[in-house]
Amino acid sequence: MSGPRPVRAPRGTELSALGWQQEAALRMLQNNLDPEVAEHPDQLVVYGGTGKAARDWRSFDAMVRTLRTLKQDETMLVQSGRPVGVMQTHEWAPRVLLANSNLVGDWANWEEFRRLESLGLTMYGQMTAGSWIYIGTQGILQGTYETFAAVAAKRFGGTLAGTITLTAGLGGMGGAQPLAVTMNDGVAICIDCDPRAIDRRIEHRYLDVKADSLAHALQLATEARDARRPLSIGLLGNAAELLPRMLAEGAPVDIVTDQTSAHDPLAYLPLGVDFDDMAAYAAEKPADFTLRAREAMARHVEAMVGFQDAGAEVFDYGNSIRGEAQLAGYERAFDFPGFVPAYIRPLFCEGKGPFRWAALSGEASDIHKTDKAILELFPEGDSAQNESLHRWIKMAGERVHFQGLPARICWLGYGERDRAGERFNDMVASGELAAPLVIGRDHLDCGSVASPYRETEAMLDGSDAIADWPLLNAMVNVASGASWVSIHHGGGVGMGRSIHAGQVSVADGTKLAGEKIRRVLTNDPGMGVIRHVDAGYDLAETVADERDVRIPMRED
Ligand code: NAD
Repeated sequence: MSGPRPVRAPRGTELSALGWQQEAALRMLQNNLDPEVAEHPDQLVVYGGTGKAARDWRSFDAMVRTLRTLKQDETMLVQSGRPVGVMQTHEWAPRVLLANSNLVGDWANWEEFRRLESLGLTMYGQMTAGSWIYIGTQGILQGTYETFAAVAAKRFGGTLAGTITLTAGLGGMGGAQPLAVTMNDGVAICIDCDPRAIDRRIEHRYLDVKADSLAHALQLATEARDARRPLSIGLLGNAAELLPRMLAEGAPVDIVTDQTSAHDPLAYLPLGVDFDDMAAYAAEKPADFTLRAREAMARHVEAMVGFQDAGAEVFDYGNSIRGEAQLAGYERAFDFPGFVPAYIRPLFCEGKGPFRWAALSGEASDIHKTDKAILELFPEGDSAQNESLHRWIKMAGERVHFQGLPARICWLGYGERDRAGERFNDMVASGELAAPLVIGRDHLDCGSVASPYRETEAMLDGSDAIADWPLLNAMVNVASGASWVSIHHGGGVGMGRSIHAGQVSVADGTKLAGEKIRRVLTNDPGMGVIRHVDAGYDLAETVADERDVRIPMRED
């Protein structure tokens, strides 16, 4: 019987599979479950509530075995974390195709999902958990940093110095918030009900200190704010209890958001429940737990609206907490906006999104060399955007702790990602890098997701729920030569609320890899440009004109 055990991807150039494309998929599956990377590796949970890399340990073993023997003209099919077939394809085809958590519309809710999950028929893939390109908390750090930079630009004269941000959730993704705030020179109070989450973020240097109590947290925060000194403070407790209390006490908060696992009501701690009893209660009485979690979220969101009424900058950080609060009957849940329409959509119009890569050598020096290549490819003097990119790469080099295989996140747009990818492939070919790189992205990208509470909230033409786009995105990545391609449902915001696609391409230094990378890394962000042109965004039209993106409906 196979069961939990520590998993770690091999490093270096020795292959245990028949080629680098297969080896890369194998190492990235293993890397997702590395205890340094995954939040709960024994349960195969990588991040985001219950986002898993494999359905069960037997399926994990079968995927490892299959990837080791998979030929250059074969493709392994994965259905919600279980390998279900190997088919003969061709060398341009992906080596792995994955479909995770997909359900037919009328059945697409948590209740039905959990029924099927308990029968062993499906798993929750989140976004990069089930598609094997999670790189730890860094994966969301730059997006979070840019979001807080946009908040600073909008409301606080370009810096968060002298401000206090209040948020909750210090998990795999939410754990990026404290560092993103301090990178913008602000002060953050970050609540989590799990003491291990707080300790883990301190250990990984994402969080500075832990407070003993709410009063202590406020004292530390106001002292640092008055000195305009960046500081992040972890505070143990239930956000649904602490936020209303802080509002009532008039806590001097300037910015409020949240990244608890609200997308999954069984992963959000209700009021009056001890954290230690949470898992057993959720497992034994899921319906009861859900009602109480939603009720707590309503109190949490009500306090967020209260802070907004009092003048704070408040936004939803992509976890569906407004939707859950609304289900509990709180009418003003959508009074504050989601972060995409508020700050990120202009980037999507340019095909920009969370581009990332990981070094299969396991050597940090490979990432440092790619950092340098990025700085050379996009010179600082060329544009304000390149300036911010330089600031990010320098800061990341100094402050980001690698989890698992060394990796880098760097938002790049249409016409940039392909240049970076080709340069990386050349660096592998010349031996400058010690081993191949994998190049992928989050599903939270410009043209790869339909998610009306997040990436496609408040689209100009009202097309928020149109899910043809992520399906076209997956198909075009298959047709362009990606190494593995995935289609998921429910990531980020939960069942019934999103459909999204991912791709990963392997730069193994061959001419063939270069050809594939050029196409994939042009067409993939190209989907973002055409999606936003179609929805009527002027900026996307300008980008399409300037960068020669062909759109038939604009040619008559
Ligand atoms: P996670 O499961 O790793 O962490 C969630 C954390 O919330 C846990 O540490 C948990 O203890 C804490 N928590 C739960 N209920 C709480 C409560 N009542 N009070 C205080 N703390 C509580 O999840 P994650 O990977 O960090 O993701 C968090 C959320 O953000 C998810 O909903 C995810 O889908 C969403 N997300 C957003 C983005 C984005 O860009 N905005 C990206 C990825 C994920």
